[in-house]
Parts: sequence; C-alpha cells; structure tokens
Amino acid sequence: MLKPSMQQLLQENKVLRQRVAELEQQREPPSDSTSLSHLEQAFHTLVKGMAGWTGQAYFDQIVCRLCDWFGADGVCICLFTKEGKVRGVSEVRNGRMVQESEDRIPGSLWKNIVEQGIFRYPEVADRPFADDPQLAQLGVKGLVGIAIKNMDHEMLGVIKIVSARPLHPPTHWQSILEVVVDRTAAELERLRAGRTLRERTALLDGILKSSTSVAIAATDMNLRITYYNPAAEKMFGYKAVEVIGKTVPELHVRVGMDSSRLRQVIEIVKAKGEYQYGVEQRKNGEKNYTECHIFLIVDTQGESVGFTLMAEDVSERRRAMELIVHQARFDALTELPNRRTMMERLVQALSRCRRHGHLGALVYLDLDHFKSINDSLGHAVGDGLLQSIAQCLQRASRREDTVSRVGGDEFVILFSELSDKLEAASQQAQVGVDSIRKLLSSTLHSIQGNELSTTASFGIALFPTGDETAGDILRRADTAMSRAKGMGRNELCFFLPDMQRAAERRLKLQNDLFHVLNREELHLLYQPQVDVGGRIVGMEALLRWRHPTRGLLLPHDFIPVAEDTGIIVAIGEWVLETVVSSVRELVKNSISRIAVNVSPCQFFQEDFTKGVEHLVIEADVDPSLLMLEITEGIMVHNLDDVVQKMNHLKRLGVRFSMDDFGTGYSSLSHLRHLPLDEVKIDHSFVHDIGVSLSNERLVETIISMAVHLGLDLVAEGVETAGQFDFLAGRGCKLFQGNYFSKPVTLDSIVEPLL
Ligand code: C2E
Ligand code: MG
Ligand code: MG
Repeated sequence: MLKPSMQQLLQENKVLRQRVAELEQQREPPSDSTSLSHLEQAFHTLVKGMAGWTGQAYFDQIVCRLCDWFGADGVCICLFTKEGKVRGVSEVRNGRMVQESEDRIPGSLWKNIVEQGIFRYPEVADRPFADDPQLAQLGVKGLVGIAIKNMDHEMLGVIKIVSARPLHPPTHWQSILEVVVDRTAAELERLRAGRTLRERTALLDGILKSSTSVAIAATDMNLRITYYNPAAEKMFGYKAVEVIGKTVPELHVRVGMDSSRLRQVIEIVKAKGEYQYGVEQRKNGEKNYTECHIFLIVDTQGESVGFTLMAEDVSERRRAMELIVHQARFDALTELPNRRTMMERLVQALSRCRRHGHLGALVYLDLDHFKSINDSLGHAVGDGLLQSIAQCLQRASRREDTVSRVGGDEFVILFSELSDKLEAASQQAQVGVDSIRKLLSSTLHSIQGNELSTTASFGIALFPTGDETAGDILRRADTAMSRAKGMGRNELCFFLPDMQRAAERRLKLQNDLFHVLNREELHLLYQPQVDVGGRIVGMEALLRWRHPTRGLLLPHDFIPVAEDTGIIVAIGEWVLETVVSSVRELVKNSISRIAVNVSPCQFFQEDFTKGVEHLVIEADVDPSLLMLEITEGIMVHNLDDVVQKMNHLKRLGVRFSMDDFGTGYSSLSHLRHLPLDEVKIDHSFVHDIGVSLSNERLVETIISMAVHLGLDLVAEGVETAGQFDFLAGRGCKLFQGNYFSKPVTLDSIVEPLL
C-alpha cells in the first residue's frame, strides 16, 4: 500500500475540514433526532476515512462509510482498466466486503454517468434496471452513480451506490460526493502510477535477467555496484551477492581496466553520457573479445544517479567477421592472398617504389598443362596439386615477396624492393623467377597416389616505368606470360612495350569480333581435296573475315581470340549453317564430302549434336556429305563423352576427320579410341618432305598406321609435285594444298589439271 506523505495528508485534511465546515453551516435542521445523530456520525466517519487512509484501505473505508452515510445496501468503486474493462476496486454489499467484486456497470447507468457525471434513481431516472439482470435480480430500487474523473477530465471509474429501497440521500450529498470523488480520483491515480512503476520495474528486471549474453551491472555515482545480472555473474566470475555494495575498481581486473583508467573513463562518461571499449583476452589459447559500454544513468529531473556497465562476449561474432574478411582476402584452397589482396599490395608497392625511387617486379605464372591433369585425374587431384604448388612457391620466395593465387592455375608473385637501376632490377627479378622455376620443375608432388611434376610459364613486368597503374602492371605481366606460353612451356618472358601494342590490338579485335556476325563480315572460301587422279572429291570450308579497317583476316588472326571469348560457338554455328545451305551448290560436281572445322569449345557445347542433327534435317541434306574436322585438343576432355557425341552423329551418317594430326600430344594408337573416319596429316610434315629424312620416315609411319587402323588419310598443305609423288607413292589417297588449288569462292572452283 502506498502511503501518502504526511504533508499531503495534512493538506487534504485541512481542505476537507474547511469544506465540511462550510457544508455544516448550510445543513437543513434535522427532522428526527436519532436519524440525525446517526447521519452526523456517519458523515464524520466518512470525512475521517477520507483523510486518514490511503491505497486499498482508503477504498475499503470509503465504500463502507458511504454505504453507511447513504443508508444503502451496497457501494462499489469500479475502475476502468487499460483493456477497456471494468474492475471493482472495492465493494461492500449487505454489510460485507465483497472479495470478487462485480466487473460490469449496467448500460443505462453507464450512459447516464457518462452524459451527466452523476445519476440518481428513482429521483432522476424512473426506469428500473431492466437492462441489468443482476441489479434487477437484487431488487435494486435506489441507485446513485457518479463518475470518477482526474484533473484532465479522464474517466477513471465510477462510484456506485445501490439500495433495495428508494434512496433518500442526506443533505448536500452531491457536494460531499464530489469531494469524495476528487479524493478517490487522486487515490486511483496514485494506484495507477504505482502499478505502472511496478510493471515497468518487473519488465526491466525480467529483461535484465533474461539476457544471457549481455552482462549488465549498475552502480551509483561512487561506482558502488547496485545491480548485477546473472550474465554478469557468468562473464566476470563473481556472484551478485559478492559484488553488490562493492566498488567497480575492486573488480577492475574482470572488467578489463585498471582503476586509474576506469576513473578516467568515468569522467568521460559524465561528460559525454557513454563510453565504449573492447577487451581482448586469451582463454585456453583462443582469443576472446568482450565489448563493453558504460552509460550514465540520469533520472527524470536530469540528475546523474549512477552508471550502467554492459558487456557482451562478441568472440563468436568477431571470429565470424574475421572469417568473412579472411575469405574475401585469401584464396580458400591455397590460403594464399587472392587477387584483391594482391592488387592492394601492388598499389602500396607501386607508391612505395615511386616514393623511394627503386623498382619492383610483378611475376605472372601460369601452370603448363594443368587442365589436362584436372581433366584426366579429376578435380580433387588438381586441387591437391594447386595446394602443393602454392607451398612450393612460398618456399621459393623471400619473406617480403607476396605470393598470391589470382585464378584457376594462375599465380602472381610480387617482388617489391629491387634495385633502383633497371638492368640490375631485371637481373634480380630473373634470378628470383629462375630459382622458383627450378624448384617448381624439380619438385615431385605426391597427390593421392599420383607422382606429379609440373612446369609453368612466367611473365615479368617491372615497375614503375612511367605513370602506369597497378592494373596496367598486372596486364603487362599477363601479356608477357602469354608470350612465354607461346614460346613453348617452362619459359620466362619480360614484358616489352611492343607486347603492349599487341595486347591492345588483341583487345580491339576481341571487341570487333562481337559484331562480326551482325555486320556480316565473315565469308567462307573452299579448298578442294583431290584424289590421286587430281579429281575433286571434296572441299574444306575455310573462314575469312573482311575486317572494316584491317582488310582480309585469316583464321589464325582471330580464331584464337574467338575461342578465348567463346564467340567461336556462334561463329561455328554460322559456318555450319552456311555450309549446309550451300551443299546443293557444292555437290554439283560429284563432290562427296564437305569438311568443316569444329573448335573444341564448340564441340563441347551441350546441344552441339542436337544442333547439327537439326541443321541437316531442316536443310534435307545427306548427312554423310558432312565431314567434321576435330583436333587432338578434344582428347584432353572426358573421352567417353567425346565418343558418345561422335557416335550419336555417326549414327546419322556424319563423318569425322582428325585435323592437323601429329602436332598435338596424341599418338596414332590413341586414335583407336575415337570413331574416326579419317586423319589429316599436318602440313608441317608435308612441308618437310624432301628436306628431312627422319620427317619422311615419320610420314611413312603415319600413313601405314592409318592404313592399318582402317582410316582414310588426307595430306594437307601439298605445295609441290615432289610432295604429291612422295605421298601418293606411300599409299596416300587424298590431297589438299595450293599445288592443286588455293582456297577459293564457290563459283570459282575449277578442276585442277595434274
Ligand atoms: P586447317 O583446318 O588445317 O586448314 C588448312 C589451312 O592450311 C588453311 O589455312 C589453308 O588455307 C592452308 N593451306 C592449304 N593449302 C596450303 C598450302 O599448300 N600451303 C600452305 N602454307 N597452307 C595451305 P587457313 O584458311 O588460314 O586456316 C587456318 C586454320 O584455321 C585451319 O587450319 C583451321 O584450323 C582454322 N579454321 C579455318 N576455318 C575455320 C572454321 O570455320 N572454324 C574453325 N573452328 N576453325 C577454322
Ligand atoms: Mg581443317
Ligand atoms: Mg589442318
């Protein structure tokens, strides 16, 4: 129960006494001496009750005394709850306090009270309580209802006085009731405020206790601990009973601060309202992070009354963040810095070199034939090899160098502090790369039972040489690496300015290639294939690009770029469509085959076989006229898949020829695995006929093995009669080359004269 302050009571008493005195003076003379003395007594008791009690006792006193004073059967003080219900605060009925007070007010009474503030039956309203069965059942014949309103005229509840007889209220009952109602309103407000405070306190306490991860402690202004939640017990290792009443500096070790620092912090909190800091500790070898906040507690009057300390163990969150940052900066497979990190370090190295006037070098390294290892032994072995190579590269580099993985089988090494003289710096870079190259080529990597060795091609770009950016340096090193690849494998190449020009040309070509089909800049030439008698039996379709500024381009100028960018797939489809749509024209002169070159990436398109099938069916051409020329590059992929695709088309009647045979890595015996019809002996072998005896032996072997395997043989690049005679004499039956005809347009095909 909330007791009003003494001051308040005295004040209220004074007001009441004054009001009672006024009313007493106005009282009408009593008609009956007994009822008068009873009434008077009841009235005085009522006034005393109002002045002397608070809280529930006040309400209980009031209902009893009002009942007495009015000579009623029952009085009830009802309160409107937040939920819009009515709750009986106190009720007396037939001389007894009612525990479970009624919780409703009859509709007609309610309406009257709301409208008039005060209601009295039967004097004012003549209807009985037909809409209230409970009142009717009680046989209520007299009733007074009055609204309890606060200072803001908000309805808090009602006082209801009921009687089984018509009520004859005492003189000035209305004025007296108004005083009672005012006092009751004040009491109800006080109760309500008290309840709200208790509810809030309970809620806050619940929140603080239920927080299992945030440790919360509160102190007074002298840092004496006044509150300590269960999470704080867990985090700081002290029980609440041990610390309540102690000062925070006494626990300073656990809150991560020494006492002098803590006092400094307190001054900051006083000035700024809050302070945040982190504590890093090692627990069982693991780093633990606690995030702490100290706040100033200010009361409603703006007075500082204490501090709260909130601490949270953020180790998990920090570790997750660190992992995310790590993943964004490092390669998951090799744990080496990734491209992004390497670029950041390159930017730093570049500006350091510019500031201190020395040189650096960026080394781009691409593994040789990594793809074949991946394809033939599987990705798990490929991954293992990359990890082993990453370690190898780190072993071969100096501590100050950055070794990073920037792509599938591509690594970049940054040499950041070389000489300030170009020659000496390039010498240092070369020595560094040579030692890496040696270690790499001599290391045997043992991966899942496979003993693997590998080499790499290296491109080196020195910097700074002008106002280049980090991106320029990376591109230069990449360009030099491509050049090294082109020089054979296990090579090293420095970036030179003319490479830059070549790289730019290539980039331009790449852009132009994207428009080549819309702009209809491609066309096909056909090179005849003849038999021993010089009769044209077939043709090979060969691509040409009429470039708007660079003139006529041959395939080797643009096919590799088209393959790199993937645009070869669309170009290849165009070639096939064009050939198929011209077949009728081509077969006029008893030509039995049209050879079309197919790039590996075109062949490996999922819908390649379907596309070809669709084309020949649509154009209604004999599929056996089509000879698809594939290269040995196709064999590094999954052989079963290759064979399946070839067989699918072969069932249609399409035939297959192995182009440029002898330039790749497959031997003739490998060819047995493929359902081929023919082999084309590469023109480099044909070219050396009559030049090198060993080459001639090789050509003879190829011819006899092809015959042995039941494959047809075409010799390409035949330029001389000598070459033709040699090949024809060894059993070769088909020939292609400038000796018979250069590639020509369809309408200029003429039978060569042998
Ligand atoms: P390839 O399939 O080996 O084609 C033969 C190449 O040898 C053609 O070069 C042809 O012009 C050239 N040639 C023919 N006879 C002689 C000769 O007596 N002496 C010399 N030195 N060369 C001769 P071209 O047209 O430059 O084609 C080069 C390569 O480009 C082709 O080699 C082929 O691999 C590729 N290619 C051509 N057209 C296409 C195509 O439509 N798609 C694809 N994917 N590749 C194509
Ligand atoms: Mg070809
Ligand atoms: Mg060829």
